[in-house]
Amino acid sequence: MKFTIHHIDNQTSARSGEIVTDRGSIPTPVFMPIGTRGSVKAVNTAELSSIDSRIILGNTYHLYLKPGHELISKAGGLHSFMNWNGSLLTDSGGFQVFSLAKLNKINDDGVEFQSHIDGSRHMFTPESSMEIQQHLGADIIMAFDQCPPGQSDYQTVESAVERTTNWMKRCVSYLEKNKGIHAWEQNVFPIVQGNVYEELRQKSAEELIPFATCGMAIGGLAVGEDKSDMFDTVEQMDELLPKDQPRYLMGVGRPTDLVRAVKRGVDMFDCVLPTRNARNGQLFTSSGIVNIRNEQHKEDFTTVDEKCRCDLCKNHTRAYLRHLMNVNEILGHRLATMHNLTYYMELMKTIRDEITAGSFDDWSHNYLKTMINYKGM
Ligand SMILES: [Zn+2]
Repeated sequence: MKFTIHHIDNQTSARSGEIVTDRGSIPTPVFMPIGTRGSVKAVNTAELSSIDSRIILGNTYHLYLKPGHELISKAGGLHSFMNWNGSLLTDSGGFQVFSLAKLNKINDDGVEFQSHIDGSRHMFTPESSMEIQQHLGADIIMAFDQCPPGQSDYQTVESAVERTTNWMKRCVSYLEKNKGIHAWEQNVFPIVQGNVYEELRQKSAEELIPFATCGMAIGGLAVGEDKSDMFDTVEQMDELLPKDQPRYLMGVGRPTDLVRAVKRGVDMFDCVLPTRNARNGQLFTSSGIVNIRNEQHKEDFTTVDEKCRCDLCKNHTRAYLRHLMNVNEILGHRLATMHNLTYYMELMKTIRDEITAGSFDDWSHNYLKTMINYKGM
């Protein structure tokens, strides 16, 4: 994997560039749609390519439980299983174990948990997370980390930071001893923890930087802390993390969050918002959030967003989409999902173009000033 920075903004820490994996080039900053269980819900891979999405996410926890990493491995890895020619990133499974599994018991060895599907008992360790991710075969894989809840006290976070470093060592040692199952290269990102405690963030970053060969992730944010604390931490990371590697801010977020984080030197993002909110009828548009289920759209025969080029906005009315959503038609989910993903992809393209043109600071100032009036953006 190779990361090249093409332009660095004069006024902010924003940079534009590209990541090249064995699957091709990914212009950065990039937003990665989430394909939890081997599909970005409601859309197919040709549709993802049509909006120039180059990398998507798979969730190790879900894929391990169903259909199982060994089955996916037999299919030739997740790319061929789901017929995706672009790049893939898988998470370590840790975050879902903590947030979804019925029971989880953490100790220094790993995490014991009960499946949220059938209650069956399982154990994830740094070694098993690496092994599962080798079977899945994503181009970028994540180290197994401990992500404590947002409001955790100092001691809890401190022990999570220490454990994350120890687990990182075990991930690397596993990968050194066990070469990949598939023919292409897999690259592991360490995940910096420490919640919003400056001292712990510094400790975590310093301990993990020696393991960073191709990129680093900022984990443990967007888990319930104040937004200003979140951006202070991102700023701190901008100072500490290697500048010549991509920085991935996990689980963030809203369109304005992406712009504010790019300003602070972040290159990669993922979030369920555009896809999940689409299925609930919440659309991101150039003039703010549209809640299509609202009564006001019942007889509204205008388009959702005149500035959008997606199928929904070119061909259908608000009233039609509202009707589809109200009667739970699958097409409604499909149209809304493609619309939201189009909004996010276009936003990232604009960000990259503005950085390249040297006008990102002015543009972002105007964008944030406009969007501050729209709740939820
Ligand atoms: Zn649209």
